[in-house]
Amino acid sequence: MFVGDGSHPLDRQFRVGKFFGIPLDLHIVLLIYAAFEVLASILTMNFVRLLSPVILFGSVYLHELGHALSSAHFGARPRRIVLHLFGGVAEVPGGLSTKQQMWVIAWGPIVSGILAVIGIVFGIVFALIPIVGALFWWMGFINLILFIFNVLPIFPLDGGQFVRQWVTLRSGAREAIRKTLPWSMTILIVLGMLGLIFTWIGPLAFIIALFLLFINYQEVKRHQHLFNGPKGFWGHLLPGKSGGGFGRLSDRFFVWSNRSKAEELMRRTDEIGIHALKPHERQLLEKYLDAKFRLRGDA
Ligand SMILES: [Zn+2]
Repeated sequence: MFVGDGSHPLDRQFRVGKFFGIPLDLHIVLLIYAAFEVLASILTMNFVRLLSPVILFGSVYLHELGHALSSAHFGARPRRIVLHLFGGVAEVPGGLSTKQQMWVIAWGPIVSGILAVIGIVFGIVFALIPIVGALFWWMGFINLILFIFNVLPIFPLDGGQFVRQWVTLRSGAREAIRKTLPWSMTILIVLGMLGLIFTWIGPLAFIIALFLLFINYQEVKRHQHLFNGPKGFWGHLLPGKSGGGFGRLSDRFFVWSNRSKAEELMRRTDEIGIHALKPHERQLLEKYLDAKFRLRGDA
């Protein structure tokens, strides 16, 4: 994950050290989990078991290091990297240009992608060596998940942040928020519903989608003033100037479902005049012509 301003209210972290000039802190929950893993491996006399969490959190750390070092490259040295049980954060300071931010965001998934390829290739090469092969497969799998998860255009994941910066370059920051948040929420709703269908990874996907939807909702509330226009919030899913989005869809449906009736009314108006129509017929015709006019305005 990538956080722009670094104002993250995490409760308790412990400094492990400083690598590449960037301090690394571990969250208390992660430390408790690490202690549990060490104890469990001593009790079961299975020390290999320790390697899989080390690879997991090492992969998350290298992902964050990708963000952190590219930010430092542009002169904005991160205050620190924090690892907690469910991911990590590189606390990157502000002040970078939009293009520089896009690179900083991209370097997390790039690192994960490279590590995924290395893990899978060495997993195949060492497939016959019992523990080594399995650990490389594990490394490939973890990094593939990190990569996929972070290229989805979902706020506040890397993919979502990247797309927002990209639209900012073309249409400005306000329009970027208007265009990307409805899509982020739509994708999360679809993923959440898919989670309800699949039984294996489904419940986890559902919970993650719900959690991210909540974060998206807070972000929408924070930018509520940007969504007060005629398009509302969901209207930004579709292009067009008018009522937009669902307004446009409902116009389409209205025109489609009332075409024959409206054409008959127009014929009668041509023959006898508008006064020949009953009030409700006149209303329908006006509504029909309005909808047609709006759709033409959009095209
Ligand atoms: Zn990231």
